[in-house]
Amino acid sequence: MNISFSPPFIDQNVINEVVDALKSGWITSGPKVKELEAEILHLTKSKSAICVNSWTSGAIMMLKWFGIKEGDEVIIPAYSYCATALCVLHCGATPVMVDITDDLTIDPMQIKRAITPKTKAIIAVDLAGLPCDYNAIKSIIKSTRSRNLFVAESEKQQRLGRILLISDAAHSIGATYMGHSAALSSDITIFSFHAVKNITTAEGGCICLNLPGFFDINEEYTFLKVFSLNGQNKDAYTKSKGGNWRYDILYKGLKINMPDVCAAIGLAQLRQYKRFLLPARKRIAQKYCQLLSKFEWFISPSLKDHTRESSYHIFPLRIKDITEALRDQIIEDIVSLGVTVNVHFIPMPMLSYFRKSGYDIAKYPNSYKQYACEISLPIYPGLTEEDTDYIIDAVVNVVQSKMRNAKLMELSLIR
Ligand SMILES: *Cc1c(COP(=O)(O)O)cnc(C)c1O
Repeated sequence: MNISFSPPFIDQNVINEVVDALKSGWITSGPKVKELEAEILHLTKSKSAICVNSWTSGAIMMLKWFGIKEGDEVIIPAYSYCATALCVLHCGATPVMVDITDDLTIDPMQIKRAITPKTKAIIAVDLAGLPCDYNAIKSIIKSTRSRNLFVAESEKQQRLGRILLISDAAHSIGATYMGHSAALSSDITIFSFHAVKNITTAEGGCICLNLPGFFDINEEYTFLKVFSLNGQNKDAYTKSKGGNWRYDILYKGLKINMPDVCAAIGLAQLRQYKRFLLPARKRIAQKYCQLLSKFEWFISPSLKDHTRESSYHIFPLRIKDITEALRDQIIEDIVSLGVTVNVHFIPMPMLSYFRKSGYDIAKYPNSYKQYACEISLPIYPGLTEEDTDYIIDAVVNVVQSKMRNAKLMELSLIR
């Protein structure tokens, strides 16, 4: 057996769509990107969708859009991929890391404590695909205390009049919150279409705008489209039509547009997402839970409760009362049986760059605790019943034998 962790879903529909882009004579931003944006609007019910070349670049653009700069603070969870912090640093601002709850999402109580007059935004991460506690986060943002602390320094900040809520929805396309698309829970939701995500364009991302009604969404869409293409008022596709050669540069924009040849991959996947790809992930998660829940060492991931349902992007298995070292040994043995697993995530304060910048994992005890016992199992539509049976057997056999050995060691030490 050799089971990979998260290969991209490439079927004949995907290949046909990419070939169509290649043969059309137009491979960078054009009609395929427009179609992908339309599919995302259809799925998420968002007011607007702007495709870009990654989650990271989209997040940098949106922080800049809000006027975030040196001296500002953005609250983020310590438990996430580094991009959640790097986008803030690239705007010159300071990522203020806070701890998570046991469901692996940012702890609203910690957010409340971290808000200062410098706080301009919060980036909440829908970890593993599970939407954050948005009702709690929004009531903190909208409280009189937070509004009074907020200092508006840009035109957008003045218009919003409060802390901006951004969702890092890199994992959570298709997730729901309060019976609606989870993308509607914040001001700005950003998806990642990196190769390992539920929907991929090889590299890519999409910004969904659900700003309050006093923002002109069409105006914001047009601005962001121009800003994401060097601030150029006419994209190359428009210029390629005869007689359209003259253009102007309106802003100091970024160059982060998504090419059509990439959009084609995601377009063909998204068309079968709700009906086929997402239910396939859910079935695997349910099978893992069902077959592992009889073991007392199994801590189930939060996948669904009365307010939200995950997009089943990651299956973060956790094992009760094990040390980080034992977890590492368990991974080694599972891998030696031909099953590739992963850890999501190494808390950012443990990574060299952040550690050297002064972040200290001791201040995020729950992030460390969850990380130390976490193993992400493969979960993707290409897994067969045979594959998932094999994965479960491998995990159970390895964990049981390691736990037995650890107990024996303990006994001999006591004696
Ligand atoms: C993948 C990921 C990102 C970054 O996405 P890119 O498209 O690679 O920039 C950001 N946040 C989280 C939580 C991720 O898993």
